[in-house]
Parts: sequence; structure tokens; C-alpha cells
Amino acid sequence: MSSSVSSKVRVRFAPSPTGMFHVGGARSALFNWAIAEQTGGTFVLRIEDTDANRNRPEWTEGIISALAWIGINADSPHFEGPLMQSAQEPQHRAAVAGLLERGRAYHCACTREEVIARTGDPNRGYDGFCRDRGLTEGLVRFRTPDEGATTVDDRVRGTVEFPNAAMEDFAIARSDGSPLFILANVVDDIEMGITEVLRGDEHLSNTPKQQLLWEALGHFPPVWAHVPVIVNEKRQKLSKRRDKVALEDYKAEGYLADAMVNYLMLLGWAPSGDREIVPWAEMVGEFAVSDINSSPAFFDVKKLRAINGEYIRALSLEAFTEAAEPFLDPSWDREVWKRLAELAQTRVAVLSEVHNLADFAFLDEPVFDEQSWNKAMKEPAAELLAATEDAYRDAPWNAEELKTRLEAVGTTFGLKLGKAQAPVRVAVTGRTVGLPLFESLEVLGRDRTLARIAAARARLAS
Ligand code: GLU
Repeated sequence: MSSSVSSKVRVRFAPSPTGMFHVGGARSALFNWAIAEQTGGTFVLRIEDTDANRNRPEWTEGIISALAWIGINADSPHFEGPLMQSAQEPQHRAAVAGLLERGRAYHCACTREEVIARTGDPNRGYDGFCRDRGLTEGLVRFRTPDEGATTVDDRVRGTVEFPNAAMEDFAIARSDGSPLFILANVVDDIEMGITEVLRGDEHLSNTPKQQLLWEALGHFPPVWAHVPVIVNEKRQKLSKRRDKVALEDYKAEGYLADAMVNYLMLLGWAPSGDREIVPWAEMVGEFAVSDINSSPAFFDVKKLRAINGEYIRALSLEAFTEAAEPFLDPSWDREVWKRLAELAQTRVAVLSEVHNLADFAFLDEPVFDEQSWNKAMKEPAAELLAATEDAYRDAPWNAEELKTRLEAVGTTFGLKLGKAQAPVRVAVTGRTVGLPLFESLEVLGRDRTLARIAAARARLAS
């Protein structure tokens, strides 16, 4: 057997384009990227586009830009590709021809119905009927060993034994000669000198077959690592129909790339010492495939939000303002926004939340939400708003003074500040939660604040 092309570590990420970038794929890509950076090795991006519906150029672009967003940059010296699987078809065909020639594969003309008629069991695999018929056309099947077991040494799963007798003679090429996934994937990995295959758990069942192919093609198999499935809070595998799985959607909602990377790295792996917020460079230093946990990883959106909030608070005000920009309404006065940004930075978990926190300052009238209104405008809201209007009419217009005055108003109604704030907040912003209230009023200004309180009183009276 020939050994790999060089002693350097070569890993790969081999997505089948689907038009969106799954968070599970992002996690596999990051684990591979960490290996490449840590070892001074190479990360090869291979686009598995052999399915005719899967070779839209914009999908490949989408993959490259999603990778770049999480720091896997095509300009890095560790990055190679993208290589298109479809361009490798001559090599795939040559590999099939070689296996046929050496008797490791054979043509098969059986239909599924014929196989079932013979075995009487639709769940049983192919029965080997054409093995020694010497056919020269039809589907191509790999001749699996009859006895013994194929032992996969997996860095995450440990040693997994697959009895060969239970493995059918699986198909490697269609009757028109076109290669099937299981073969193309192996031939490409061999051609690209891949030394370690780290990928999702769903491919573990392919692995014994692929290992047999590596050997039949004259190569030592790579180091295997199958990373655990990602599940939702109901312990169901994340699915695009049920769960938010597209990396692009998280970006659009205002997750920061660094926070996303940090969180994805925690899905099945943990840095030392109970830490959760860990910069990428430190993760790379510590990452070890052998420390990856084999049990399902829970995609905990609450934890992701908390981590994102921490990353948001760690930004400079300038960086925060810039990051929040895509989530603002184009019509908003940026000078006013600047005064609110500092307040918003302390409150948001995701950047898209800034819109609803800040809109009160830019709308002619605050939004109206019946639920919030009913919740806040309970007795003695009307009287309290009237007293606040009086107290604010000639107040020096700064947050501290506005707070002191509302506190005093609240006391006359036997209300603590928190309770006294609620009707004022809804009258002025339309919402029950928002930015620190008195700073918000300071930005909004006396005239607009008083007008909104008066409007709320009028609505309560009617
Ligand atoms: N193209 C396969 C997929 O997206 C990946 C195969 C592999 O990583 O070996 O599931």
C-alpha cells in the first residue's frame, strides 16, 4: 500500500450544496479548521456537487462566504480549494475500472424486485446473485468480504466493529458508469491526500464501506472522527423543517461571527476549566479530537443568546454602532441613534433587537401594542400620568432629575419606582421593556415626552 502524499495533516470539509449552510456543517468545518491551524496543516474545501441539482454556482459562493464569516478564509495559507467533485469524474471512473479489472467489483443486472423475490425480505441487502456471472454492463457493485469484520478506529466513537457478513455488496457506480457518492467521496479524499476525515455522525454507517474502498484502492485509510449529532431542546435531531439551522439566519438575526464560532465550538467539545467564552486562538491551541464527546450535542439557543450578549458588550461603542447599522431603519437620524447606542449595547442579546428598543425616538407616535398597554395602564395609571406630566413640565431635562421626580410622584401613590415607571414607559415608547427609561426620555426631549404622556391620558379617558 502506498502511504499518503506527505506527512502533513490534510483535513477537508466536503459539503453537498443545498442552498443554505447548516450549523452542523459549520461546526464540522470549524473543528477541521482548528486541526489545520493547530498542526500547520491544510483544510481542503471540496464541493460535492455530483448531483445535477446541486451544482448551482451561487450555492458554492454561499458556502465560501459563510465560511469566511466564521473565519475560515479562502486567503489563508491553510485553505485549499474549492475543488469541485464533478470535475473529478474521470478519476472516479478510472477507480471503478481498476476495481472491476482486479475483480474487487462486478457488474450487476438485478432489479430490486428480483432481489426481493429471491430473498423474500425487502430489508435485506443485495444477495450477491451477479457476483460471478461475468457481466460486462449494469450497475457496479463492490465485492465485500464474506467473513471477518471491518474495524473502524474512530477518534470520537472508539473502535467500532462491522461484521462483513452483514455488509451487502454495495453499489459504487450506476449502469451508465457515473460514480455514486460512496466511491466519489473516497476517491477524492485519496486524490487530495486527506489524512483525517472529521465529519457528522450520520456518515458513520458509510465508514466501513469506505474503509474497504480505501484499502481496495491501495491506500491506508485516514484517521476517522465522527462528531455527534446536534439536537434541539426535545432531543430531536436538528431539522431544517422544524428548527432554525441555517447559519445565514443567525447572521441575519444579529449574532456576531465571533460569538457564533465560540458557541459552535462548544457543541461536543469543551475548553479546559469550565470556561465558555474563549477566544478562537485559545481554542485552536487546546482543541483535541480525542476530547470530543460522542453523545448528542444540544443546540441551546438560550446559551447562544447569552454568549452573543457577552460578545456584544465586549465591543467598543464604535464597533457596536457599526455592527448594529444593518438593523436600523435607514430613515433614522444617526446623531440621535448615537446617543441611544450606548444604552442599547447594555441590553441586547442579538443585534436585531436594537430596532424595537430604539424606534420610539424616531417615530412620530410610539407603536401601539394592546397587550403592553393593558398590562401597564392599570389603576392609577391615569392619575399617575397626569401627575408626571405636571412634574415634568418645568423639570431640568436630565435623566437624574426625571428619575427623582417620578420617584416622588410614585411615592404619593404608594408605588415603588419600578411600578411607577411602567405606564410612563408604555406611554412614551409603546413597549413594556426597553432602554433605561430616564436616559431615553432625556434623548426624546421634553416636548415629545409631554405630548406622548398627554396622548396616553387622552386614550385612557376615552
Ligand atoms: N457531502 C457529504 C455531506 O454533505 C459529506 C461527506 C463527508 O464529509 O465525507 O453530508
